Amino acid sequence: MDLSFILNELGEDRENYFNAVSPPIMQSTNFAFKTVADLRVAMADEFDTSTLYSRGQNPTLTILRKKLAALDGAEDALLFNSGISAISVTAISLLKTGDHVITIADPYSWTEKLFNDFLPKFGITTTFIDGSDFNNFETAIKPETRLIFLESPNTFTYQLQDLKKVATLAKSRGIITMIDNSYCTPLYQQPIKMGIDVVAQSATKYIGGHSDVVAGVITGSTALIKQIFSNEFMNLGPALSPHSAWLLLRGLRTLPLRLQRSFESTGIVTKWLSAHEDIEKVLWPFSAGFEQAKLAQEQMQGCGGLFSFVLKNSSLKKIENFCDRLQHILIAVSWGGHESLIVPSIASISADQYDVNNPSHQLIRMYIGLEDPQYLIADLQQALAY
Ligand SMILES: *Cc1c(COP(=O)(O)O)cnc(C)c1O
Repeated sequence: MDLSFILNELGEDRENYFNAVSPPIMQSTNFAFKTVADLRVAMADEFDTSTLYSRGQNPTLTILRKKLAALDGAEDALLFNSGISAISVTAISLLKTGDHVITIADPYSWTEKLFNDFLPKFGITTTFIDGSDFNNFETAIKPETRLIFLESPNTFTYQLQDLKKVATLAKSRGIITMIDNSYCTPLYQQPIKMGIDVVAQSATKYIGGHSDVVAGVITGSTALIKQIFSNEFMNLGPALSPHSAWLLLRGLRTLPLRLQRSFESTGIVTKWLSAHEDIEKVLWPFSAGFEQAKLAQEQMQGCGGLFSFVLKNSSLKKIENFCDRLQHILIAVSWGGHESLIVPSIASISADQYDVNNPSHQLIRMYIGLEDPQYLIADLQQALAY
């Protein structure tokens, strides 16, 4: 299916709403039926009914659902009110007491807490491995391993996993594979085509793209998505609002342009930083010197605008001063919007916990938005000149 068709036409039924080019926000909780018989048909198949009750489906969400499924080359999609609910509700749905999970070191922080703190309450255990070495997956598999959860690259150290190899191994052992693909979006990485079963994204990031909506999505086979929808999804109630769905539809129209701009500018900024005398190292999968550059080029068609770097002779004070000096790049969490952002790793620890010998304490994470890259470089340059 053409990308242009997916983003501009798929799922849209304009004759049904006055030929409006922009789809309506169907701000209604429930939908009326002419007869009891019609209602019965809808209630028997809530998954495929856009017009019953908006904790399940909703017509504005259905347009978005079709587009996001098609972008991933998946049979179906399910929308959530946050990226983390897409991940947590799906994990809860796929797992039961006694099951074992394999995941990578340094996944998204709340994913880590899900596996470390939340799921153990229900007798579900997790092994965290260095996913950049494929052999670690084989070694970590137990008879009760039910799920392998990936994030490639992760959004801190940018380590990759070989998606095709992991998918093949998991299939041969009857293990489900799931990936957090927020970093690449379906435009730069298509995990389903590489054999991964479930793809999750924080739509808050590139899909929304304007820092004004929190949302999540999973894609996969209709059978799997329907099973999650009909059970845990309807029970836990993480539905997206029609207004948020509309904002995501609007975001999708410009996704290829925004992603390309963010990708290209990040190439320019990371190259400039790498050559700067005060920079120790830059971590970005499409950098020439990146450890897994070959795998990145093989399984990704482009790269997100998040990267990390380390200042030479880092100290807590030096990192803080550098970030505080920035005039245009904002100190803020999240990413994927129009605005460039910076978060030093030291923001998540107290000053007395800082360890000069811990490389992860020195990492500064930056996101490149849609500004002119030279404008951002000038800001970095003045902040480095101290
Ligand atoms: C932000 C983020 C999430 C969580 O998404 P929310 O929409 O904030 O719930 C999950 N994974 C990654 C990689 C993220 O950056």
